[in-house]
Amino acid sequence: MATTTLPETEMIEPKPTTTKYVYFFGGGKADGNGKMKDELGGKGAGLAEMTNAGLPVPPGFTIQTDACREYMRHNAVSKDVDSQMDAALFRLESLQDQKLGKGDNPLLVSVRSGAKFSMPGMMDTILNLGLNDQSVEALARRANNPRFAYDSYRRLIQMFGNVVLDIEKSAFEEVFDSKKKQKKAKLDTDLDAKALKEVIEEYKKVVKKHTTHDFPQNPHQQLVLARDAVFRSWNNDRAKHYRRINNISDELGTAVNVQAMVFGNLGDTSGTGVGFTRNPAIGTKEFYGEFLMNAQGEDVVAGIRTPVPILELEKVMPNVYNQLRDITTRLEKHYRDMQDFEFTIQDGKLYMLQTRNGKRTGLAAVRVALQMVEEGLIKKEEAIFRVEPNQLYDFLVPRLDEKGVKIEVLAKGLPASPGAAVGQIVFTADEAVEMAGPSSQRKPVILVRAETTPEDIHGMEVAKGILTSRGGMTSHAAVVTRGMGKCCVAGAGDIDVDEKAREMRVKGQVFREGDWISLDGTTGRVIKGKLNTLDPSPDDEELQKFMSWADPYRTMKVRANADIPRDAIQARAFGAEGIGLCRTEHMFFGEQKIPHMRAMILANTEKDRRAALKKLLPMQRADFIGVFRAMDGLPVTIRTLDPPLHEFLPRREDLMVDIATLAHMDAKQKKSLVGKYRDYGAKAAGDLKKLMPALLSRVEQLHEFNPMLGHRGCRLGITYPEITEMQARAIFEAAVAVAKDGVKVFPEIMIPLIATVKEMANQAAIVHRVAKEVFEEKERTVEYLVGTMIELPRAALVADEIAKEAEFFSFGTNDLTQTTFGFSRDDVNKILPTYIEEGILKRDPFEVLDREGVGQLVKMATERGRKSRPNLKVGICGEHGGEPSSVEFCYQTGLNYVSCSPFRVLTARLAAAQAAAGEKMQGEAGRTK
Ligand code: ADP
Ligand code: MG
Ligand code: MG
Repeated sequence: MATTTLPETEMIEPKPTTTKYVYFFGGGKADGNGKMKDELGGKGAGLAEMTNAGLPVPPGFTIQTDACREYMRHNAVSKDVDSQMDAALFRLESLQDQKLGKGDNPLLVSVRSGAKFSMPGMMDTILNLGLNDQSVEALARRANNPRFAYDSYRRLIQMFGNVVLDIEKSAFEEVFDSKKKQKKAKLDTDLDAKALKEVIEEYKKVVKKHTTHDFPQNPHQQLVLARDAVFRSWNNDRAKHYRRINNISDELGTAVNVQAMVFGNLGDTSGTGVGFTRNPAIGTKEFYGEFLMNAQGEDVVAGIRTPVPILELEKVMPNVYNQLRDITTRLEKHYRDMQDFEFTIQDGKLYMLQTRNGKRTGLAAVRVALQMVEEGLIKKEEAIFRVEPNQLYDFLVPRLDEKGVKIEVLAKGLPASPGAAVGQIVFTADEAVEMAGPSSQRKPVILVRAETTPEDIHGMEVAKGILTSRGGMTSHAAVVTRGMGKCCVAGAGDIDVDEKAREMRVKGQVFREGDWISLDGTTGRVIKGKLNTLDPSPDDEELQKFMSWADPYRTMKVRANADIPRDAIQARAFGAEGIGLCRTEHMFFGEQKIPHMRAMILANTEKDRRAALKKLLPMQRADFIGVFRAMDGLPVTIRTLDPPLHEFLPRREDLMVDIATLAHMDAKQKKSLVGKYRDYGAKAAGDLKKLMPALLSRVEQLHEFNPMLGHRGCRLGITYPEITEMQARAIFEAAVAVAKDGVKVFPEIMIPLIATVKEMANQAAIVHRVAKEVFEEKERTVEYLVGTMIELPRAALVADEIAKEAEFFSFGTNDLTQTTFGFSRDDVNKILPTYIEEGILKRDPFEVLDREGVGQLVKMATERGRKSRPNLKVGICGEHGGEPSSVEFCYQTGLNYVSCSPFRVLTARLAAAQAAAGEKMQGEAGRTK
């Protein structure tokens, strides 16, 4: 645990003025209100707000987050917290006319976690607290239902044992399952009072065995221990992990809600459920959710029994159903957002237990925002904040390609989170991580589980999709994957998942780890084998409408990074307003090009090099023509050759091995070796003996210890000016050619890795000279710019100088982050997890622009550059260009555009619109968290 322990004497220093640690709610009035999420957490604030609104909420009190922070610092709470809690408990007991765990009618409470931002299932909650060997009998008599009383008690021991006493869940599950077997019970509810009493005795033995103590019988002691355990659960691994992915501060802490219990497991007129005021998967306006009769709390979400759609409640209990609809409609109007609620029915009476703004898919977020504007609930400028920029990705999720393939549907589950996923089966979260491999070359895996739990979160993060055999639309798997925008099929009941045997059995077939399956999260189908996926179309009408509201706020342009016409066309369809980075080296990797490229690199004289380049020229020209046509009317930034040349040659070690083994090879092996070296001029086996050593010697000449800081970028164009010349010629010939066809073309030639103004001048001179030559030859001119990438700290420092030669800047923030931190981007994963764990870095700086360091350079270079050239066009073309918080920073810094991968264009557009609108409206009003 990451809490610091202070020496004994410094613990619990009394505060000068007493803080209000405990907020009561009940009897129609609450001390707090819905705005106090910082103090009361989302759950506590919601309970207070609902109480104040006169809704039926079981009474209780909230111990605020300050107490949690205190607990994290000192490993204990102050006396004030204890005494205020005792006073609130006394008030609750008086209001209820009950005593905690005592008397004929014992008060039982739940002890519930709840932080400012909802972290579903990440922290802990304990129900039925106050039960012990005496009060369980009182409860049994009072409810006239021993089975219910024993069931509640065994649940308490189980939850308390796990959460407070750190006993593995499986220790209790084993006892429970073997009891079910012994009694030949199919469902949990088939166990009778006697059987449950036996379970309780066994559970107590489990507690004694694991802790050497008896299960605590004193209700007040139970409460104190449970409160502290909930505080501790703020720092459990899965909660920390969740906060990291969702960028929630570790400092906030959780509140603890202590609330009188109501019972959904009292019999056939009791039940419990969860729901949404609109469909959180697709955003349609429908009452949505599920419930279970004769069940308690977690049963619905845990996926242990498959719940019933909420509309069925109307048939079972029409009055309760209507009341629930009334209340939730009111709540939605009150919060002006879709609500996600929990309720329990005790003996025909409805109680509300939670309400919060519901999590939803991107699809649903857009639709709900549109509906709410139409309904007059929110304004358009609020609506644009109701969608997280990253969520727009949902519109771009793939679908399965079903045309012309025979599809075998293995099972149908619930369409828990839309999209399609195709991958290899894994059965545990750890295996998912292992098999998926590092993020740079992640393999597609499908995590198959009977049901997921918060402990699976790391596996869910790396998996392409999730399949569960149990659980509903509000199960853990469903809720979490929707939040991640990841495909999920839940509750596919026909599938038998055997995690122990690492097998999935369905329709008489057995699937093992590594077998391929395809999931359709939009329809819930589980399909055998490896289907292809189809690119989605971004022309959804509602999305277009939504973007037409957001875009007018935007002042910053959004471009795309695209190297080939196909990507350029795609980017344009997503709304890109130009190309911010067209990498020419990708153009050299094409099949007919690579031999000439290699010949160019292997050339020993300028003459030979020019000859090879001459062959490349028409191919490059054709590539540029394609891109220019695709971007008719929009600017295209083309970067001259950037990577070190050795990337185009075979690896030194491979060559050495091939040379060493050549002598012992048979004809067949030699033939295959000829194939391998054909691009380098090998035609027959006889050529190899001379060719390979020559190659090796060139590779050795080019070998560098630190190629990323080596002979690359403008350094190539300066040492081999003919390369820049050829590229400039290809660009201008292409531009002139398409211009003659009426295409509006605006090439921007970008020189990489500039550190000094003289480098810039050197390369700019070549480009300008070639432009002049081509324009004269072809008797036609086109407008163009020559600029640079700012990706070295030195360039940022002397940006005023460089801007005298460069007509535009584009921040290459991948390299700039690499060179500013001195982190190798390709190796940083050895360091980064520890750095984030230790809090040395908050986020991966290659993912989210480091505003404090790298951001300073961006700001400084922009200011200095514009000092010498006031109309200097400035953009960014690193990965950060599609990351919402970095986009916001670019806006604040006054950049003209961001450029990102085509699939991030929509996200960048919305992020840029929100940045501008947020500034205009002074803050991010109404953003859904
Ligand atoms: P989570 O944040 O994981 O949803 P909750 O604190 O909301 O945890 O509680 C877990 C389950 O227990 C929920 O289904 C909730 O409705 C139920 N629950 C919590 N408090 C009570 C209570 N006082 N009476 C009945 N059920 C409760
Ligand atoms: Mg809850
Ligand atoms: Mg670079």
